[in-house]
Amino acid sequence: MNKEKRRVVIAGNWKMNKNARETRTVLEQMKNISVPEKVDVVFCVPAINIPVAAKEAAGSKISIGAQNCHWEKSGAFTGEISADMLKYYGVGYSIVGHSERRQYFGESDETVNKRAAACLENGICPIICVGENLRQRENGTTKDVIRQQVRGAVKGFTQRQMAGCIIAYEPVWAIGTGKTATARQAQEVCAYIRQLISEIFGRQAAEGLTIQYGGSMNAENAKQLLSMEDIDGGLIGGASLKAEDFEKIVASAQ
Ligand code: PEP
Repeated sequence: MNKEKRRVVIAGNWKMNKNARETRTVLEQMKNISVPEKVDVVFCVPAINIPVAAKEAAGSKISIGAQNCHWEKSGAFTGEISADMLKYYGVGYSIVGHSERRQYFGESDETVNKRAAACLENGICPIICVGENLRQRENGTTKDVIRQQVRGAVKGFTQRQMAGCIIAYEPVWAIGTGKTATARQAQEVCAYIRQLISEIFGRQAAEGLTIQYGGSMNAENAKQLLSMEDIDGGLIGGASLKAEDFEKIVASAQ
């Protein structure tokens, strides 16, 4: 399968930004942006704003996503939110294993795997984040880190489960720093991720997989990154908070 046949997904990660009123205001603008055919646009908003966002985006081409989800349906897990709860609001995607969750909240490959499985059971597409930090890039272990994270995240999955996932390559050193990976660096790792998926699930699964790049993607660099053979979309933090910037990124996905 060539690049043209894969689903292009441009997802905004709002992190811990915007209250309910601001969410409504930004989505009011965002829902009218023109979305090229074969491109899915998603906003992963803070959990508390999912009801407001879902209401505002209803009937538009915009999907609403979460930034995390727990693997159990319910129980004594203070502060957590289950995939079942997300499903109630029609959430279509959830980020899992974002590097900020790995760094500050003890997320491991094992919990990423369980969270992704719970998403899939509830018809939610997990956006599984993987990526090396600066030290790992500099000491030449990027591929080892990626291999471990990818294998851990999809451990025990069937081909069918794999087909419901997105993998986002997000080099930690490029997130929120203004330092973007060059298109060549990003392509090299995204191609490696596709190769790993091919080794585990076969060529067809790998060729159909949507792989995003994330890390300081913006209106200026999006076109080049998105034109690379193995980059099928973007996970965008800072530049997804302003309608004008995000619209340009979506347009360059055409
Ligand atoms: C992110 O939060 O996933 C991200 C890529 O952030 P930024 O675009 O701001 O680097």
